[in-house]
Amino acid sequence: MSSLREYKRKRRFDVTSEPPPEKKASKSGQIFVVQKHRASQLHYDFRLEAQGVLKSWAVPKGPALDPKVKRLAMAVEDHPLDYALFEGVIPEGEYGGGTVMVWDFGTYKPEETRDVSAALRAGELKFTLQGKKLKGSWTLVRTRDRSWLLIKHRDRYASEKDITESAPLSAVTGRTLAEIAEEEGGNVERAATGDPPALLLRSKRAARRTARPRRGKEAQRTRLA
Ligand code: MN
Repeated sequence: MSSLREYKRKRRFDVTSEPPPEKKASKSGQIFVVQKHRASQLHYDFRLEAQGVLKSWAVPKGPALDPKVKRLAMAVEDHPLDYALFEGVIPEGEYGGGTVMVWDFGTYKPEETRDVSAALRAGELKFTLQGKKLKGSWTLVRTRDRSWLLIKHRDRYASEKDITESAPLSAVTGRTLAEIAEEEGGNVERAATGDPPALLLRSKRAARRTARPRRGKEAQRTRLA
């Protein structure tokens, strides 16, 4: 099954520093990642490892810890495992052009099933997250076509706190979106609009510093542990 064909078709790997399609598994076989992505619209990409790829959803408002809040999650193309720790800048004009932050990562465990792919095909997966920010029990349920809902279950990690506001920095480098843009040669002003108000000062400082454009290939790419 070439589930990475769409991923490959949408990208030019001589231009973007995103990893080329390569199917393989992580050590645990069950990693998850949430990438904050300032493209034409700010969104959060939620990804779960299954069968050697990252099953992926774009969540416009990001995850919510409040079980009463159902967050729209649009299914998008599978991504390669190496994408999990991609943090950097996709050149403007390319597919998904903008700044990408590893907002959270860790491992997950499916609940009530061992066959994640089958559960996803059936349109509902319950799982427990062990991330740096997101923990506890969640569900992804399909409503129609590519539309899913990402919902927190009631447990001790449920909260009305807005986690995207309270924990806005990169889980791997501690940077704001604007700082990632600055250091990887992206559009700092545009990336700054993805930072929460509390970080505006820090972002404005980043924006004032002279951003030296760098080649995309220099963008950070950490290997999976
Ligand atoms: Mn995205």
